[in-house]
Amino acid sequence: MKTFTCTCKDHQLLFFESSYCVACHRTVGLDDTFDKVEPYELAPETGQYFKVAQPNVYFQKCDNHANFKTCNGMIKLNPSSPSTAKHEVLCFACRFNETIPDLSIAEHIPLWQKMEIAKRRALYTLKALSLPLHNLSQDPDGGLSFDFTTDRDVSDHFASQLKGSEAVFTGHDCGHITINLAEADDVARSHTKMAMGEQYRTLLGHFRHELGHYYFDKLILESPEKHTLSKKYFGDDELDYQKSLNTYYENGAPQNWRDAFISEYATMHPYEDWAETWAHYMHIIDTLETAQNFSITSSIAGNTDAHEELTDLNLPQDAYFFSSQASITSILDTWMDFSIILNSLNRSMGMNDAYPFVLTQTVRTKLSFIHHAIHGRLNRMPELMLKGE
Ligand SMILES: [Zn+2]
Ligand SMILES: [Zn+2]
Ligand SMILES: [Zn+2]
Repeated sequence: MKTFTCTCKDHQLLFFESSYCVACHRTVGLDDTFDKVEPYELAPETGQYFKVAQPNVYFQKCDNHANFKTCNGMIKLNPSSPSTAKHEVLCFACRFNETIPDLSIAEHIPLWQKMEIAKRRALYTLKALSLPLHNLSQDPDGGLSFDFTTDRDVSDHFASQLKGSEAVFTGHDCGHITINLAEADDVARSHTKMAMGEQYRTLLGHFRHELGHYYFDKLILESPEKHTLSKKYFGDDELDYQKSLNTYYENGAPQNWRDAFISEYATMHPYEDWAETWAHYMHIIDTLETAQNFSITSSIAGNTDAHEELTDLNLPQDAYFFSSQASITSILDTWMDFSIILNSLNRSMGMNDAYPFVLTQTVRTKLSFIHHAIHGRLNRMPELMLKGE
C-alpha cells in the first residue's frame, strides 16, 4: 500500500484510510478511480466538495462515509443532475456491498468499520493489479458482492446464537462473499484462532482468501487448458470437497504439510490450497509495496547486486511489474529477506511474528503460478517449472 501527501503547506502524510487531514483540517478521500487519497475543498453554499485543481467538478461524500464513517469514498456528481441527495450514493468500494450488518444494533457499527477497512485494502491491491473487478450492477452474472452479516450475538462477543437467525458461514459462492461479522470482533476471532490452532487469522486474510476463490473461477475455470494446468500445481480440484473437508477435520493436516503447502488448511482441498496461496500472494505484494513506499526494500541486504535487484522490484505501481520471470523470483527473494526483518521488528515489540510461514520451493512455484495467472501468462509456466526443477 502506498501513502499519500496532502497539498497543504505541511505536506501532511495521508494514509489509505484517512478521511481528514490533521494539519489543514480538510476532508480527504478516495474517488472512484480508487488509487489516490487527496484533499477536498468544501463549497459552503452548496455543501459539495471539489479538488483545487478542478474547481468546477463537484463531489459528495459516499453515504457510508457521511453517515457511518465506514469509508472515505468521494463520488463525482453528474453535472446534468447535481442533486443526488434523494438517492443512496455509494462509492466504488461500497457498491460491492449486498448485505451490510444490522445497524439497529449499535455495536455492529464499529465492527462494520473494521470490515470495510479490510475490504477496501483487499480491493485496492486487486485494482492495482488490474484484475477484473465489477460489482453486481455492472455484471449481474459474474460480478462480485459482499454480505456482512451474523448469526451470533455481539453482546457476548458472538459466543451465543442470535435467536431466529439462519446460520452464517464465511465463504464464497459464485461471486458472493460472506464474512461473518464475528470475524471483526477481536475477542471472537482470537478465540477461534486459538481453538483451531492457527498461527494467523485476520479480517484482511479472510477477504483475500475468499477473493482467491472468486478469482480461481475467473482466471482458471474460464479455460479448460488453464484448469488442466492448475491441477498440475495444486492437485485435482474435482476431488469430493465435502469428503476432503470431513477428512481434514477428522485427521488434520499431514505431518509434512510444510514441504508443499503454505498452511495446514491449504492441505484440505486444492481449492483451499489455491485460496490460501492467493491470499499470501496478496499479503506479500501489499506488504512489499508498503515497504517500497517507505524506501525500506532498497536497503534490505548488504551487497550491491542484491541492492540493484531490490530497487527494481516492479511492484504494482510500476509499469513492468509482470514483465518477466525475474520479477516473481526477485519479489519472493526480497520477501524472504523482508519477512525476517518484519518478524524481528515484531519481536522487539514483544509481539508474535507477523509472518510465521515458510516458503519452500513448492510453495514458491505455486505463488509463481498465481503471479502468472494474474498476468495472463500461464503459457510460460511449464517452461518456468523446467527451469526451477
Ligand atoms: Zn492537509
Ligand atoms: Zn463508501
Ligand atoms: Zn476457502
